[in-house]
Amino acid sequence: MQPYAIGVDLGGTNLRAAAIDPQGNVLGKLRGDTRLDEGRDRVIADIVTSIRTLRDQCGAQQLRGVGVAVAGFIDLDRGFVVGSSNLRAFDRFPLRDDISQKLGTPVILENDANAAALGEKWLGAGRDVNDLVLLTLGTGIGGGIISAGRVLHGAVGMAGEFGHMTVAPFGNPCGCGNTGCLEKHASATAIISMARLLQLGEDLTAEDVYKIALAGGPDAARAQHIFRIMGESLGIALANLVNIFNFPLYLLSGGVLAAWDLFAPTMLAEIQRRSFTYRNTKTRIEKATLGSEAGLYGAAYLPFLLEA
Ligand SMILES: [Zn+2]
Repeated sequence: MQPYAIGVDLGGTNLRAAAIDPQGNVLGKLRGDTRLDEGRDRVIADIVTSIRTLRDQCGAQQLRGVGVAVAGFIDLDRGFVVGSSNLRAFDRFPLRDDISQKLGTPVILENDANAAALGEKWLGAGRDVNDLVLLTLGTGIGGGIISAGRVLHGAVGMAGEFGHMTVAPFGNPCGCGNTGCLEKHASATAIISMARLLQLGEDLTAEDVYKIALAGGPDAARAQHIFRIMGESLGIALANLVNIFNFPLYLLSGGVLAAWDLFAPTMLAEIQRRSFTYRNTKTRIEKATLGSEAGLYGAAYLPFLLEA
């Protein structure tokens, strides 16, 4: 039997696990709910059970390790999850060592957005490059930086907080203490807030705003304006990233990518206008391809990276 690693994606809603070989073939996959309402021990027991199930299926001898992607900051030295709003019960709990002891297998923790960037590099839109940036556009904005094939962590693992880049000096206030953060102007939440401000409706989803923009009529013009603001904000952020990194590839992921045709022209024009590097190099700004599977695949890739 071939070597493989197990990736786990621990989200606030879903708990997923997959056994994947070094070539990226998925040997087995499990999916369940993250039963947070039944307590931390229940969730850990579910993680351990899912890893054991896959290990029994694929062979204990060939298992190279386990990677776990978690929504939250990771204290890499201690193997803690710190300050995750989705997983409060895990705050400062030694998750890595706890799972590792229960299984007798090495475990690596990684932030979910970093894992997603790694997944895209390994099996997704970034397969042909070693350096990329992934921006995840959801209720907030996060992402990851892959440099020379590895996650760039920074001093304590807080690199890649793209959502809190300033894109408007006097823009909307953000919970982080800043004003004009990217995620206050380009996330799904920001789209909904802007729609409310422009009196398009009170309880809209980002998808509703997208549909209004496509429908025509006076409301459509205001909804389209929201996506232009989103594109402009993303363009400013991406122009800065292109200037800083000179990477060949910048990926965007998340549900709001459905509105690509509405925000991308403004975004690309803004990058073109603001980045000398972009104008003079072959820099690609593209959609990520793995969707919500990216973090799971990236988690499974972590043990192989240790061997490399
Ligand atoms: Zn902020």
